[in-house]
Amino acid sequence: MKKVVVDRSICLKAGQCYYLQPSVFRADSQGWPEIIVEHPEGEELEAAEDAVEICPSGAITLEDA
Ligand code: SF4
Repeated sequence: MKKVVVDRSICLKAGQCYYLQPSVFRADSQGWPEIIVEHPEGEELEAAEDAVEICPSGAITLEDA
């Protein structure tokens, strides 16, 4: 099982993750990404993998949980 992790120390709050993959991420009131599905599977895992690719700062990783 995978776990979605966002490293806030390098996140730019640009929002690609929650705009492009809203099944897994959403914005909090300050523009930080919140992880909706911490352990994605199936289509949500594919969405999380896509977010890893599109994040401009490399802040999103999928770790073995
Ligand atoms: S795409 Fe990356 S840099 Fe942009 S808000 Fe999401 S985690 Fe942060």
